[in-house]
Amino acid sequence: MQQVHSAQILRVTLKDIGKETLGAGCDGVIIPPGLKIAAGVRTADCLSIFVYTEHGLTGALHAGWRSIAEGIGTRFLKIAESEGFEGRDMIFQAGPAICPSCYEVGPDVLKKFPGQAAEGNKLNLLKALSIQLQESGAKAENIKFSRKKWECTAENDCFFSHRRGDSSRMLAFAIQY
Ligand SMILES: [Zn+2]
Repeated sequence: MQQVHSAQILRVTLKDIGKETLGAGCDGVIIPPGLKIAAGVRTADCLSIFVYTEHGLTGALHAGWRSIAEGIGTRFLKIAESEGFEGRDMIFQAGPAICPSCYEVGPDVLKKFPGQAAEGNKLNLLKALSIQLQESGAKAENIKFSRKKWECTAENDCFFSHRRGDSSRMLAFAIQY
């Protein structure tokens, strides 16, 4: 994906297979059943989230605060529902991201998240996206983080972190097979 911190989602079709970049200016892909492709998300602090259903639908989202504020989770579920998939059947797996203790944001960002996703001037990206997904039909128990403990990209040298000054990005995939 040529990610631009938007809420645009590309519905992948057969003609997209083999392209190096899936969709210019989108931050999410929805892969209908049967295409058997992999879609990657590049991150360094932003949340990557991968979607799976037993009915063959796969998806990948690049979810920083801008994309979440613009409703990327809601949009994903709307597209999926229009194709006959239910949010309650979907499993969401989040990748490593900046943790809420490290993610200080300004008042302009905070005012976009009036719910429980912010505490003081700290924003919890996973909570912000979880709230949005649940409001659109996903089940709380189906939204999972990478490990039991938050894997913070800003605190852990194993990861690239935009806040720590890295210009490199991590790449994670959803593979439909
Ligand atoms: Zn942290």
